[in-house]
Amino acid sequence: MSRLDMFIKRMSAQRDLLNLIRDQNLLPEGPIMEVGLGNGRTYSHLTESFPDRRIIVFDRHVAAHKSSIPQEENLVVGEIRETARDFIGSEAALVHADIGTGYPEKDAIVMSWLPELVAGMLRSGGYAVSGLALDHPQLETLPIPVHIEPGRYYFYRKI
Ligand code: SAM
Repeated sequence: MSRLDMFIKRMSAQRDLLNLIRDQNLLPEGPIMEVGLGNGRTYSHLTESFPDRRIIVFDRHVAAHKSSIPQEENLVVGEIRETARDFIGSEAALVHADIGTGYPEKDAIVMSWLPELVAGMLRSGGYAVSGLALDHPQLETLPIPVHIEPGRYYFYRKI
């Protein structure tokens, strides 16, 4: 499968899981954490899908389209491994993380610290949607819709 096909499948899976949460009205109270702003396309989707939520965004630099740059108070610039520590206990309703690189050895390092941060930011009953697997005892794996291939994107609820 070409990298273009894989990218499209990954983005479709991401969007479909976020839409599932929106359409089934699953979110408890609390802010949304967008881990990895990138171009801001997902941030744009989150702001449209959850217009009443505070969305706090993390990235090491701001390189998003100018229409998708969060307000300063909701933008956390720096290495997520360091900056997200200040948000442990935020009682977030949703953490979305799209910071995979496509390099297994690099992603393995991220997967050694990201699950603890995601679990720490979420409230009990909050959801995590991630491009990388989040192996953590407080994160219960949820079933994904059948049309999404296993391993394409990951879906969890904090116990
Ligand atoms: N969902 C985004 C969008 O809609 O454009 C794409 C996110 S992009 C794949 C990943 C982003 O996460 C990049 O902008 C990168 O700078 C950021 N990132 C990855 N690892 C990071 C880290 N450890 N600390 C800070 N930023 C990181």
